[in-house]
Amino acid sequence: MSQEHHFETKAIRTQNANSLFREHSTPIYMTSSFTFEDAEHARSLFADEQEGNIYTRFSNPNTSEFIEKLCLLEGTEDGIATSSGMSAMFSSIAALLEHGDHILASRSVFGSTHQLLTQVFPKWGIQHTYVDIDKPEDWEAAIQDNTKMIFVETPSNPGLDLIDLSWLGILAKKHQLILNVDNCFATPYLQQPARFGAHIVTHSATKFIDGQGRTIAGAILGEQSLMEKIRFFARHTGPSLSPFNAWVLSKSLETLQVRMDRHCDSAFQLAQHLEGHEELDFVKYPFLPSHPAYDLAKRQMKAGGALITFSVKGGLERGRAFLNHLKLLSLTANLGDTRTTVTHPASTTHSKLSDAERAEVGILPGLVRVSVGLEHIEDILKDIENALEATKKHVTIPASQ
Ligand SMILES: *Cc1c(COP(=O)(O)O)cnc(C)c1O
Repeated sequence: MSQEHHFETKAIRTQNANSLFREHSTPIYMTSSFTFEDAEHARSLFADEQEGNIYTRFSNPNTSEFIEKLCLLEGTEDGIATSSGMSAMFSSIAALLEHGDHILASRSVFGSTHQLLTQVFPKWGIQHTYVDIDKPEDWEAAIQDNTKMIFVETPSNPGLDLIDLSWLGILAKKHQLILNVDNCFATPYLQQPARFGAHIVTHSATKFIDGQGRTIAGAILGEQSLMEKIRFFARHTGPSLSPFNAWVLSKSLETLQVRMDRHCDSAFQLAQHLEGHEELDFVKYPFLPSHPAYDLAKRQMKAGGALITFSVKGGLERGRAFLNHLKLLSLTANLGDTRTTVTHPASTTHSKLSDAERAEVGILPGLVRVSVGLEHIEDILKDIENALEATKKHVTIPASQ
């Protein structure tokens, strides 16, 4: 496969089959190690003089196929597969930074990434500063002499705010910083950060890349010189992906485009339907003209994504009541599934934050996040409408009673 082919062709036709049986679908290579033809072959593999598999912690035909596809889809030179999204985030930072280095990060990063930055990396002398994703004017001023990396998630979770990746790419270049973008929400189908100047693209493949709620996995993709350091780090610290999960994910990538098209179509329809709804304070979706970064979203993303947030009138109590009245949609903290999932961040994923901290990242008491799945849109709409209708009385109770 080459970059000349279209997205779905690369996702479907990149294959690592080297088979005896002429199988059409790539087999699963469940083996921990590989044999050498002779002593010379072993020597040359260990000396990196030729390509080949030695041990599955280093590489395996299934993980190689998965990564080869992702590199083609993201437009990156090189990559490695990891056991989870978090091992991708951790390794991409730990392998490239040193004691005394500093990271500039968007404030609303994934919960465990926040724990890495605030609780884990400071133990090794790697500090960070958070900057609001929607205030680009603050970014350059926050760069310190020891800043080495910019880490960003766009669109952000659960605020769905965006940052201009091409602008960030220019800023990173000017200050010689490594730009590391967690592209989990958008997937390479909607946005390819490397094309805007990102040096490293990280993924939780657990979400839309699997897309069916079956596996935990991640990936780190990027420039070869940086990937060499990350590969060394991963080879010896061991966050490798199982061949079985890599096989599942390589198959999942074959349908990424059709799934994302449907996720985005349905999410857009839901957002349009809910906007202006009398039971909601607001609806936020990157491809609604009311989104503060609508023009940027149109430039940077192929479609608006699967995630929508809205705020139910009546605050925390109504938010929780709304969830309790959903009959079809799943209550789960996860996202990126064929099944629509609904989360109430204030009482779950972000409940440990103070009211002020939640306000800082845009989490109002009545905020609901929906990851729109692949069920029929009318069934999704009906479940949400019914739950809004059933909890209507909550809004008429004044806050003081
Ligand atoms: C889920 C998620 C992660 C962590 O991935 P895991 O596969 O759960 O380890 C990182 N970043 C974002 C944006 C996520 O949604």
